[in-house]
Amino acid sequence: MAQGALMVCLGYILFTACGPLIDSSVRFNTGGDVQVEPAFLQYVGDFEAEYGQRIRGISMMFDRDGEIDEMAGGVVAFCQPALRRIIVDPQWFWGDSDWRREIFLFHELGHCILQRGHRSRMMSNVHIPVSLMHPSPGTGLDRETYKKYRTYYMRELFGRTKK
Ligand SMILES: [Zn+2]
Repeated sequence: MAQGALMVCLGYILFTACGPLIDSSVRFNTGGDVQVEPAFLQYVGDFEAEYGQRIRGISMMFDRDGEIDEMAGGVVAFCQPALRRIIVDPQWFWGDSDWRREIFLFHELGHCILQRGHRSRMMSNVHIPVSLMHPSPGTGLDRETYKKYRTYYMRELFGRTKK
């Protein structure tokens, strides 16, 4: 797969950084249908509730063509902003916990819907990312810590890009 040409953005579960990132010259079409795998509806609904509006013109599917298998290890999902398409590894999704699914799906929606790039900074006091847009957004987080910081993360995720 021609990753460079497609401007793939990846959510890594472990370490490393995203490869070729969002091309800020790409502007999305709005409108059109939303095609979402039923398993993602709950997360999309939660995302919309935080966003304060419906999302549009995006497809969000499980990886059926082995695209993720062809990528570097640790990738669980990716967003192609130009295509407004999010692909999710089903093995990861069904094997991970609810709160971690939220982190990674919100991360990809952050790329595809909010047009956000990565933000790699870590908090200085606690070793967790300052943003869910961290290249490895689950770094240092456990269930309780995420719960504690969720309001902050939502504000950070949506506050910066809200029109
Ligand atoms: Zn990413």
